[in-house]
Amino acid sequence: MSKKIAVIGAGMAGLTVAKNLINKGFLVDIFDKGRGVGGRMSSRRTQWGYLDHGTQYFTVKNPLFQNYIAQNKENVKEWTGKFARWREEKLTKIEPENPRYVPILAMNNLCKNLGLNVTLQTRIISLEKSQTWTLMDENGQKYCDYDYVIITAPPQQTMDLLGNHSDITESIRELKMFACYSLMLIPEKKLNLDFDGIEFQHPILGWIAINDSKPLRGEKGSIIIQSNFSWTENNLEQTRENVGKILKKASEETLNIRFNRSLYESVHLWRYAIPQQTNDQGYYFDTLNNVGVCGDWCLKGNVESAFLSGYYLAEKIIESFS
Ligand SMILES: Cc1cc2nc3c(=O)[nH]c(=O)nc-3n(C[C@H](O)[C@H](O)[C@H](O)COP(=O)(O)OP(=O)(O)OC[C@H]3O[C@@H](n4cnc5c(N)ncnc54)[C@H](O)[C@@H]3O)c2cc1C
Repeated sequence: MSKKIAVIGAGMAGLTVAKNLINKGFLVDIFDKGRGVGGRMSSRRTQWGYLDHGTQYFTVKNPLFQNYIAQNKENVKEWTGKFARWREEKLTKIEPENPRYVPILAMNNLCKNLGLNVTLQTRIISLEKSQTWTLMDENGQKYCDYDYVIITAPPQQTMDLLGNHSDITESIRELKMFACYSLMLIPEKKLNLDFDGIEFQHPILGWIAINDSKPLRGEKGSIIIQSNFSWTENNLEQTRENVGKILKKASEETLNIRFNRSLYESVHLWRYAIPQQTNDQGYYFDTLNNVGVCGDWCLKGNVESAFLSGYYLAEKIIESFS
């Protein structure tokens, strides 16, 4: 009989592990607390186009990921923007080492295109193990009879879910994630910036992008401003309004620009944005308790790592049945 597997999280890692297991005949149910799929690969929908407030672009190096992107080539375009680095008060043009890619329209299109059914707006808050696994959501609803459970949440949340069900908690206890604020901005009048993406070494700023220099994201000159990790960590208690003001002021002073009134303005806090360390584990698999864990933080903290982590875990589970 086919094994029944629950996957918690419908970001790149969760959807990849799910898709590969489904292709091999496993029965897979996917749960996500969000309103849509994609996790940190998400975009805010506005009447002027989508704003990529999480992942900005991705690179493609590993042949497995190359192959996956090749299969999706009509939905993915190279972001042929002009890029720069701001360091020691100076802005310098850079040529990226690797092409930067984005899905057309919105970041999570790469995830949506997988066409998987996901039970959305369902936060799993606890797991119980008897012969099989039972998941419980925050409304007390139970989901039963899973042979395996796979968690793709950040390490801290994965530990909370695992509790004392698996020794995996011991291996991931020290793993931490940086937080990051993202300000989404559509100015009433377009700003003239010489670059489409700027990486900062700055006391407050981390990254600025002209969002609609990416394919099919409107024409209003939308901007994404992201804070740097250490400033974010020290300013987690700030109101969103203050954070917006601080990020705008820092950008104005640094780039010698002036923001006029905004058609749209919103700040999002990514509490678990990017792993603080690289990891070569790839994934975690507890064969005694039938639990798997994958996610970008099991490798290098980017979209390609999330894909590979999900892919490798699926391979491991498939192999254990062959
Ligand atoms: C601001 C920012 C900028 C970034 N920029 C880049 C970039 O330019 N290039 C790049 O390659 N990468 C970038 N990244 C990283 C990239 O977004 C991640 O590496 C990748 O999206 C991680 O995918 P994942 O599936 O591992 O995790 P996630 O996308 O975080 O997916 C985990 C999913 O689990 C769900 N979940 C968690 N807990 C529960 C629960 N208890 N119950 C139900 N669901 C749950 C979440 O809702 C989420 O959808 C950026 C990330 C951020 C935040």
